[in-house]
Amino acid sequence: MSLKLLDELYNKIDKLNGFGPKNILLFDKLCGSRLLDIIFHLPNSIIKRIKINSLKDEYIYKRIIINGKVKSSWSSYKKPKISIVTLEVNDQILEIIYFNVNRNWFLNNFIKDNEITISGELIRKGNKWQVIHPDYIQIKKLEEIIPIYETTYPLTSGLSHKKIKAAVKYSISEIPGFSEWINSELLKDKNWQSFNKSLLKLHFPKTLEEVENAHLYKERLAYDEALSRQLALNLIRKHKHKTEQKTLININTLKDKLINNLPFKLTDDQQDVLKTIYEDINLNKRMYRLLQGDVGSGKTIVAFLSILHVVEHGFQGALMAPTEILAYQHYLFFKKYENIIGIRIALLTSKMQKNIKINIIDDINNGKINIIIGTHALIQSNIKFKNLRLAIIDEQHRFGVYQRLELSKKSPNTDFMVMTATPIPRTLVLTDYGDMDISIIHSKPINRAKIETISVSIPRMNEVIKAISRAIKNNEQIFWVCPLVKDSEKLDLAAAETRQKYLHNIFPNNVAIVHGQMDSRDKENSLLQFSKNEKKILVSTTVIEVGIDIPNATIMIIEHAERFGLAQLHQLRGRIGRGTKNSVCILLYDQKIGEIARERLTVMRETNNGFLISEKDLKLRGAGEILGTRQSGGQMFKILDINIHENLIKIANKNSKMIINENPNLIGIEGEKLKQLLYLFGQDKAVKLIKSG
Ligand code: ADP
Ligand code: MG
Repeated sequence: MSLKLLDELYNKIDKLNGFGPKNILLFDKLCGSRLLDIIFHLPNSIIKRIKINSLKDEYIYKRIIINGKVKSSWSSYKKPKISIVTLEVNDQILEIIYFNVNRNWFLNNFIKDNEITISGELIRKGNKWQVIHPDYIQIKKLEEIIPIYETTYPLTSGLSHKKIKAAVKYSISEIPGFSEWINSELLKDKNWQSFNKSLLKLHFPKTLEEVENAHLYKERLAYDEALSRQLALNLIRKHKHKTEQKTLININTLKDKLINNLPFKLTDDQQDVLKTIYEDINLNKRMYRLLQGDVGSGKTIVAFLSILHVVEHGFQGALMAPTEILAYQHYLFFKKYENIIGIRIALLTSKMQKNIKINIIDDINNGKINIIIGTHALIQSNIKFKNLRLAIIDEQHRFGVYQRLELSKKSPNTDFMVMTATPIPRTLVLTDYGDMDISIIHSKPINRAKIETISVSIPRMNEVIKAISRAIKNNEQIFWVCPLVKDSEKLDLAAAETRQKYLHNIFPNNVAIVHGQMDSRDKENSLLQFSKNEKKILVSTTVIEVGIDIPNATIMIIEHAERFGLAQLHQLRGRIGRGTKNSVCILLYDQKIGEIARERLTVMRETNNGFLISEKDLKLRGAGEILGTRQSGGQMFKILDINIHENLIKIANKNSKMIINENPNLIGIEGEKLKQLLYLFGQDKAVKLIKSG
């Protein structure tokens, strides 16, 4: 098997002399400790040196390489420990200065009349030429060791630059000779070099041309990464669609019953999306669909109606939410229609009472329950469905591609739909959701209230209190969100609780609280009180970020808004403006606010369009943050930058589709090469799907 070709690259860097377990840990922190990881740890800048023979003003602040003869050297015994060499360069004098350098080393090396070569930044002090702490000195006239071009790398504390360079050098030398997997037209068209050459020249450029072509080498590798991702997505996609299901037809009895009892009419977008979903479910191929829609676009009812479609055929449907609060809210909404429709709907969460839980699990198993609503635990645990046909995951932007694959493997006959409230920029849809079909709800229901967004600095808090008083007089409700300080649940807790006490003093008995550390009963109670309008203010942490639907709430106050990301702010703001009353979102910010944070607040004031906001977010923060799949230490991509390489992603998308259509199991020589590519970029799991047939 030619994948053996990659064996060496799977070794860890401790194979190299001088690298031990401690280095492994440090490399794991930096980029990964396998040679395969290290070859993709690309330089972040490059030092350019110039070789000169005489000292001139034009070389000041440049990094020079120069030869000279030691005229004198002097090193002080006492502090401050300064050592100075004067170097004769033709008729000029260059001073080399060291601070706190080992005196013996210094005097042994800089011996009068010796010829030496040094490299460092040239400066001018009065009428003196100086280099402070040269980065290279070459004492004897051996072959030249000072590189004209030298790459520098992102570091981590504990790992020296020298060490990283040595690791890179070794790793690169272990890359086997690959055969080209990119088609020759594309290579030629883009002026790309081979995989090996591109890497080598990025790490160790030898000429100015190679320095200036760095973007080309990087582009080639970025394309490789994009192609491997797109190939993997296509393989996953094929795999998911493999099982045969029973075909269904539209019955629409239950659907119409629900629609006729809704307090609103479905929007055109909702109807269109439903039509597509029904058609997709009806096929004998599994559905694997992403439903996108901005906050408040009305995805929940689409989920409900989709599930009813399979229930009409005697199947079960499940709706999974990321939080218990949200699961509970969906449950309350569905439950209202249970009797009208004549089906059984149940809620299952991990924190429920044991005996109730046992009964529900039983009834899921014997099919008495038609629709089950819960957290993700629903299909990850050992719950056995009688005949689950449709599983819908709400607000699921927290899963990566392979996690979704795991999920789908657990219920091989189930149609899947994931709904996301964070609109996903187009390129990200391609790179992260390429395994799914996409439906989008573009517009929100009409007659929606306006949301005005303002930013207020924290010292002007009393104006906010006045606004709250007015809202309460109008019988409206208020969300007050406190920040989460660096995963520290304790600090987070304190903040929300302090705020509750403060507000309670001003608005007695009108303040409810909900946060992640509360018992689920208490959470439900708080939320219930708020949703019944028994309490006017809900103080919370970001647990209410997703999905919470309280149409009577008209004010959203976000404290320390500068600490939140754009997507999160937009989500939070999406909690208001859900009814018909005009609403206001108040971003309370600390005056000591940074540049990017200020820009975020401006974006928030200027637009309410989730798709625009997520495009901005992608620019400001990068992909991993938006998708919430930023895994420990790792970025989504090693080389590919979604903001720069959008075009490459499109080409890779097109080419990978062609490849998988023609050669779905990646057989033959061409197939082998592509498998190597997949392994190189960590898409091993996708390759294994082929093997498992
Ligand atoms: P999201 O897409 O953010 O999950 P929801 O499904 O929670 O949005 O819907 C937001 C609010 O809009 C809910 O109160 C819901 O009942 C209401 N809604 C949904 N569809 C419509 C519609 N076609 N017309 C009016 N209101 C609607
Ligand atoms: Mg929702």
